[in-house]
This record gives sequence, structure tokens and C-alpha cells, in this order.
Amino acid sequence: MNQDFIKPDNWSIIEEDFDANRVKASESLFSIGNGAMGQRANFEEQYSGLTFQGSYIAGVYYPDKTRVGWWKNGYPAYFAKVLNAPNWIGINVLVNDEKLDLFTCRSISNFRRELNMKEGWLGRRFTATLQNDIKISVETKRFMSLELDEIGAIEYSITPLNSDTKIQFQPYIDSGIVNEDTNWDDTFWNTLNVSHENNQAFIQAKTMKTDFYTCTFMESKVFINNNSVLIEPNINADANYASFCYPRQVKQGEVYTIHKFGGYTVDRNHTKTKLVSAAKTALKKATKLGFQALLQLQKQAWAGIWDMADITIDGDVKAQQGIRFNIFQLNQTYSGKDARLNIGPKGFTGEKYGGSTYWDTEAYCIPFYMTTKDQQVARNLLEYRYNHLDKAIENAKKLGFTNGAALYPMVTMNGEECHNEWEITFEEIHRNGAISFAIYNYYRYTGDYSYITEKGLEVLIAIARFWHQRANYSKAKNKYVILGVTGPNEYENNVNNNWYTNYIAKWCITYAIENIERIKSDYSSDFTRIMNKVQLSNAEIEQWSNVANNMCFPYSEEQQIYLQQDGFLDKELITVADLDKSNRPINQKWSWDRILRSPYIKQADVLQGFYFFEDHFTEEELERHFDFYESFTVHESSLSPCVHSIQAAKLGRMEQAYQFYLRTSRLDLDDYNHEVEEGLHITSMAGTWMSIVEGFGGMRVKDNVLSFVPKIPKQWVAYSFKVNFRNQVLKVNITQTGTSFKIDGDNELDILVNNKQVTVSPNSLVTV
Ligand code: BGC
Repeated sequence: MNQDFIKPDNWSIIEEDFDANRVKASESLFSIGNGAMGQRANFEEQYSGLTFQGSYIAGVYYPDKTRVGWWKNGYPAYFAKVLNAPNWIGINVLVNDEKLDLFTCRSISNFRRELNMKEGWLGRRFTATLQNDIKISVETKRFMSLELDEIGAIEYSITPLNSDTKIQFQPYIDSGIVNEDTNWDDTFWNTLNVSHENNQAFIQAKTMKTDFYTCTFMESKVFINNNSVLIEPNINADANYASFCYPRQVKQGEVYTIHKFGGYTVDRNHTKTKLVSAAKTALKKATKLGFQALLQLQKQAWAGIWDMADITIDGDVKAQQGIRFNIFQLNQTYSGKDARLNIGPKGFTGEKYGGSTYWDTEAYCIPFYMTTKDQQVARNLLEYRYNHLDKAIENAKKLGFTNGAALYPMVTMNGEECHNEWEITFEEIHRNGAISFAIYNYYRYTGDYSYITEKGLEVLIAIARFWHQRANYSKAKNKYVILGVTGPNEYENNVNNNWYTNYIAKWCITYAIENIERIKSDYSSDFTRIMNKVQLSNAEIEQWSNVANNMCFPYSEEQQIYLQQDGFLDKELITVADLDKSNRPINQKWSWDRILRSPYIKQADVLQGFYFFEDHFTEEELERHFDFYESFTVHESSLSPCVHSIQAAKLGRMEQAYQFYLRTSRLDLDDYNHEVEEGLHITSMAGTWMSIVEGFGGMRVKDNVLSFVPKIPKQWVAYSFKVNFRNQVLKVNITQTGTSFKIDGDNELDILVNNKQVTVSPNSLVTV
């Protein structure tokens, strides 16, 4: 743990006392979003201290020219950057003509910031004395509407405390924005037009190169003691900026308030030429409702989300706050409505890794969305990859693969690879496996085979083709080998026979064949359609089988473990426990070559395979591999602790599972990795959810039946969660003495609890 200033609370993230050194970390932690857009918790008023200003629009990116020393054939031409979008939240505040700025105020007291996760808003209050000795109290509330997802709303109130004061609110929109993360310091936005009428302003801008057309807009209204006052604003506009000024002589003790609605309309949803009129429509809806009514709808929308997605933990406030923070941020990032969008590792909270799609979605996020939402949401995530299949085939073709083989990108915005480190782009090919695995996982959980017949099989075939071509026969081993890869553990590059990669490659081929056979026998018209499209012969399938059946898996007879890769045991095997702490984190302390030579593991690698394919191994095998590999694991990826927590729980090591749980759930709140300033780790938050439901709750699907092996950390009195299994909602409540199950709806559900069948009937609580 590296920070401890967030107050423990069941439903809110709370910071008290202003500390300029914490501003950037808090800007990440208090981020808000609604799936369509999001932003860091920057102050509305000017702030001249250290800050990382960030507002982001889903799906709007910039293909920044790559910056590599030595160009290698096949390198992607660009590295996509999530774009820091025009600012719509800004409100400059002048207090007797002095700009309010928390960095330069004479004193600040009573500071409190709250992210209310139950109701979905961000609030702030403080009392400040400015250099001119005017003392004011300020109270703000802001949210990104779930109801109207092009709209955000701000309420900003000031009360002069020691004299009558002239206050000017200057709400503005600004497209003169630059990215923190940029390779060449280019400008990413081209402003096309700035316009205003009445209390509304609009900036139309398009992104350079990608030509995403957007309109950033705002409308404001002011109040004294909650009564609307009409002030004709002064207007100030230039090439990429528009602001209004609402001046008012405010009496001591009076409350002067501004309501500002703002946001974006984008050409993903509207015709390019209609963005301003779409913005006016959105503003009309918002202002008709007004701030309070829109906030009320926000609370209702969040109540609906929490009703299904909440996990309660009794007896451990920090653990409770951690899981709700994770669930909240996941829902702020992805709403599941639009199959063109996905879940970026930093969501709308930062730029590094940005809003791009990684294997994180398939490996970590799908179970969360699949279980806590309508199954269409997970299906949309699968369709996202189906819609990128042609690009994945093109991507593989560029690297020399043929015949419809697909290599999905490691990082993408639109289906093209947009990451350019060779170890990742060319070598971290295991991501293809997660995409097939997600199809299997979705079917296993939802029972919806129609996805595979309609779309999924084409993806499975293209991926199987890739693995078949990527493996080569080794005469020396009389096996098929996969050379020159990076496994999930990115602290090894260019290794041969990474066990995880070889294992998932074999599985992908086998699973594709299994589905080809099933569709051939049970869905003949789909079979004909797909085969006409992909031109797959029996001879080709036989060649795939040959590769799958003769795949090489490095193994140590002596240790009785699969080796992470060829030669792993040649390393100097000093465990993490025996490594002096001053070396950690190794990615900040050591040179890259030293990391590569070391045995240290960034995140689950062999154990990732044991997580996906748990049923293929005995518990003794899991224990042996867990003991060996965890002892070398430094968990320097946010994705690491969750898988280990699930496996420790399965092995009955509850204290260890609990420690991993705390680490994953409070990774950002407590800043375990020293980098929360850069943004939150959104995708690993889904792993936190898995640690509870799959780890402690032991939830699995076994032959179409939901199964639980419930356990509970000793620190907790009880915990509960709900799952949507095949359109039936099951509530599970686990205490130190037993587990109860309750089903919504009229149909009973048979489940397994500790491998015994239990029938849960409507309107009755079953306790085991
Ligand atoms: C991890 C990858 C992950 C990426 C984005 C990296 O640090 O090693 O597995 O896909 O972060 O979350």
C-alpha cells in the first residue's frame, strides 16, 4: 500500500483535507463516466498546481505515428492514442476579480470530495480565503448522465462568507486541447467552427487523420438562493474557445449557483452535418428536466445497476469499498449498449493504454458483464471481435500467414494492430487464444449456441488456421513447437514453447473442430453457408489435428511441473521471498535484460492456463504449479493478483486468497503500483469481481449447471452477490455458518453446492 487517504466508507470514495500533492491521484480515483464519455475528476475552476486534465469520448482516437529506432517489417504504422477531448466542464470563477484557484488561495478548510457510487455523482465542498481576503464557501456536484448519455451536468454554488462580493461565473468550452501521451507533440484536433446563441455554445471539431467529427457543447443558467435569475451573459469566443460570463453582486450569505449542462455529440451516432442540431436536442431534453430531475434519473439508473451487480460484504468496510469501486468503474466505462465500443484498460481515466481493446476484455471482463447484465452485453463484446475478423485476417496476411488465418491485434481501436513494440505486436500471440476462449466461456455460461452458428465459428476457424500455420514441426523433438513468443508474462520475450501459448493453441484447434462437427451434424444450412465462405477442406482439418495432437509441452519430470517455456529451469531460481525488497518493483529498478534473464513473473502465465482450463488438471497438479510459479511472481501487472486469489481460494488458502483480494480490489485506492496518477486499472477490476464470485464463491458452470463451492475469509461476517444465469437471477448469501440461495422469478433452478445437487424454488430461501 502506498497511500491511505481515502476514507473507508461502504458507498462512497471520500477525501478530506486538500493536499496539492494528491491532486493527480485523486483526479484518477474520482473519475466519472457513462460508457459514452468520461473524464478525470479535474476541478471545474482553474487550477494552476500539478494536474492531469483529461476528458475522453468513447471510440474517438488518434493514430499517432509510431516512434521506433529501427523500423522492422510488419510494424504497425501507428500507435493509437485515446484522445484527450475538448473540455466542457470548465467554469472559471472570479471573486472580486480574482480568479479562484485552490493552488493560490490564502487558505483552504473544510475540503471534502466525494464520489457517491450508489447514486453516481461526484461532489466537492470547501471554504477558501483568496489573496484578496474574501472568504467563500463552495459546493459542487457533477455527473455524467446515464439517462442522456451525451449529457453531463454540473451544479456549482458559491456563498460569500465575509462580505458582499462580485462573483463572475465563466463557463467555457475549449477545443485547444493537447494529449499528455503523444509521440510527436502533434495537435490532434482541428476546430471547424465555434458558435453560440442565447446561453448555448458549440464547438465543432474533427480529429486529425481519423476524421471523427464531434460537437462539444454547453448551456448554463444561474440562480440566487435557488431562484433562477436572468443575466445576459457577456460572450468571449475565439478560434477554439467559447465562454460566457455571468457577473453578479452577491450579498454575504447568499448562494449564487450555476447549472451547466455540457457534453458531446459524435458522428458515430449522428450525421456529421447534424451534430449541432443533435446537441441542441440533447440540451433541450436536459434543460427541460433540469439539474435535479436529471440527477434523480441518475440515482434511479444507478439503483438499477446496483440491484443486479452489487456485492455486499459485511464486517470489512475496506473490502466493501474496494469491490464497489471496481463495479462502479466498470459500469462507468462500458454500458454494453454498443457493439462498436469496448473496455480500455484505463477506461476514461487516463491516456496510457488508453481506451484501446486488449485481450483483457476476453480474459477478464466478459465474466463480469455476462453475469451481472443481460446476456446481449457479453454477446456485443463477442460481436466486436467478429466485426474485426477481416482486419485480423489482413493483419495475419501482413505477417505472412495465408488462407484466412487470423491474428487479432494485441491492442486495437478499429481492428487494426495499433501497438508497436515487437515483443508485443509480433510475439504476444496468445491473445488469439483468449478470443476463442471467450466464445466458449459465453456459450458455457449462457447456453446460447446461436452466436457460434451465426458468427463465432468463423472466428474459431480463422484462429485455428493461425495456430496451425504458426506451429512448426521439430524433427529433434518429433513434436510441433511454437517458437519466438511472449506469453502473458511479459517479463520474458522471444521464448520457445511457452506452455500457456502452446496449450491454448492446441485447445483452440480442438474446440474449432468440435464445433465444426457439431454444426455439420445439427445445423446443416449454417454449415453450408460457413464452409462456402471459408473454404475449409477435410484435409486441412486433419492437418490441424495433427498439430494439436502432437504439440510440444515442456515438462520437468523431476519437479513434475509444466515449464513456463523451454529452459526455464536454467534460470537462477531465487524466489521473490528471497529477493531483497529494494529490487522491487523490478520493472522500475532493473534493466530490461536483467528482467528477461531472471525467473520473475509479471502475472499469471502457466497459472493463467490452469485458470482457464481448471478441469483439465487435478487439484494436486494445481497446487504443485501454484506453489512453484507463485513463488517467482512479482504481480507487477494489475491483472495478476485476481487469478492468484481465485486459485488460492480453490486450494483452501483463505488468508493468501484474502491478501490477493485486497490487493486487486484496492490496487488503485491504495495505489499499490505507484502509478494511480496515470489513471485507473479498469480491466483488472473485473478480475476483482471474479476473485469474489469465482474465488470465494467458487462459482463455475459444470455441464450446464451452476455450481458453487462457497468459502468465506475469516475477516468477513458475510457477503452476497447476484448472478444472471440463463435469464434467471440467483442471489447467493454466504456467512461463516452457511450459504443461502434465492431465485427471482417463477421457475426453479437446480444448482450444485459442494458437488451436491440443490433445487432452489421460487419464493423460498434454501440454506446449505
Ligand atoms: C499486461 C497485459 C495487459 C496490458 C493491459 C500489461 O501490463 O501485462 O497482459 O493486456 O497490461 O492491461
